Amino acid sequence: MQNNSDINLPILIIGAGIAGIACAKKLQENGKKVIVLEAKSSIGGRINSRKIDSDIFDLGASWIHGIDDNPIWAITQENNIGTTIFNYDNSQYFHKNGKFFSEKEAQEFEFFIDKIEKSLSQTHKKSALEAIKEIIFSLNYSGNTFSENYLKKLLLSFFERIANDPFAANLDLLSSNYQNHEGYFQGNEVVFTKGYCQVIESISKNIEFKLNIDVKTINYEDECVKLIDSNDNVYIGSRVVVTVPLGILKKNHIEFHPPLSRDYIHSIQEIGFGSFNKVFFELEQPLPFRLEGSVEKISDFYWNDTDCFNILDLSKIYQKPTYLMLFGGDKSKFIDNSTDSEVSDFVFSSLQKQFHGIPNKPKKIIVTRWGVDPYSCGSFSFPSLNHTDDLIKILHQPIRKLIFFAGEHCSLKYAGTVHGAYLSGCEAAEKILK
Ligand SMILES: Cc1cc2nc3c(=O)[nH]c(=O)nc-3n(C[C@H](O)[C@H](O)[C@H](O)COP(=O)(O)OP(=O)(O)OC[C@H]3O[C@@H](n4cnc5c(N)ncnc54)[C@H](O)[C@@H]3O)c2cc1C
Repeated sequence: MQNNSDINLPILIIGAGIAGIACAKKLQENGKKVIVLEAKSSIGGRINSRKIDSDIFDLGASWIHGIDDNPIWAITQENNIGTTIFNYDNSQYFHKNGKFFSEKEAQEFEFFIDKIEKSLSQTHKKSALEAIKEIIFSLNYSGNTFSENYLKKLLLSFFERIANDPFAANLDLLSSNYQNHEGYFQGNEVVFTKGYCQVIESISKNIEFKLNIDVKTINYEDECVKLIDSNDNVYIGSRVVVTVPLGILKKNHIEFHPPLSRDYIHSIQEIGFGSFNKVFFELEQPLPFRLEGSVEKISDFYWNDTDCFNILDLSKIYQKPTYLMLFGGDKSKFIDNSTDSEVSDFVFSSLQKQFHGIPNKPKKIIVTRWGVDPYSCGSFSFPSLNHTDDLIKILHQPIRKLIFFAGEHCSLKYAGTVHGAYLSGCEAAEKILK
């Protein structure tokens, strides 16, 4: 029987996010014919820069997480794409009464964050919530800067926020060894002055895309693959690279014939995939508390009861009072299912509880809802309670040399990031080229 690599059929790639595009580019550079099928009317996937009035907002990814040796940074340099440094660990903190943490308080607070993170590597608990609670409650606080109870509450809700951002999860669903999965490169964090889409544009030249193609079936009974879309159109390829988000696979949006074996299904079900959303807003006047703090510190943390909020100041980038709040886990799911005005009320009441001089609503608000995006069904993957590297390694194994998986959720070291998705697309191409 003829081997699939000998058949003069194109390699089909499902999904025109950065993983699919990186894979297509590498295959094409090596002389392969490639067609990328994309369900949406545009390419980029979770890299989605939207022009609203005269400004560009990155509704999906914004940051290059660490520029040292990061392949995405290399692309921006080769293509002269404008970026600006935005290190968002450069933070300041506010007490419930709206007052800044003193320098000593901030130092002490950060010292305990560090200490807890170090202790996490020794825990035997599965869930990050159980592990962190145990560590926090056994902490001996001998200082007099905070009351012990208050400090412990602040720390617990701060770690809940870490589960939300950058893991799109709640602490009780996150693995206690989440630190091994942070997946950032070293060096400065940067954002794009005119949108992340420039990275997509610069690597997608000469690639054949077919847009508005919602793939519903992958048939791999023979020596080739046969894909069927929602309009019953058929596409035949020598192989298929599946780069759709994990949320799409979890929902069985694509049917496999024959069905995937149990270990693939197990991986797809066990790897975490959460909701993470952005709320950008513009105000008539800068937030009053921003005028008092350090201009260098562009990330503010504040607490309402047991919830920790973070607000990022983008005013320097947009040259007007513009802010960004990031939500993951349950709060993000609430955003997925709420109107702009409900989200605005939620955000502004949290600010008003904390600070004086906050308006009732913004001049402009932009809200993302990745959890209900029909072609994403969530935002990105995270290590869930039963996470092991083997769950991901299963997805690295091609099926009958016909089906290959790629995408951020297939990255062992850099899941949940653009560079992870990019490298995973390149790795899938290398496997095909071998
Ligand atoms: C709000 C948000 C903020 C983020 N911030 C950052 C950040 O600052 N830095 C960072 O590094 N990462 C960030 N990420 C993560 C990053 O965006 C993703 O990891 C990366 O873009 C995923 O790329 P991908 O190619 O794996 O998937 P995608 O970009 O999702 O591409 C998959 C494509 O498949 C298509 N598709 C789905 N179903 C079908 C179907 N049935 N048929 C055909 N096509 C289909 C989708 O439409 C999509 O275009 C963020 C993500 C979100 C949602």
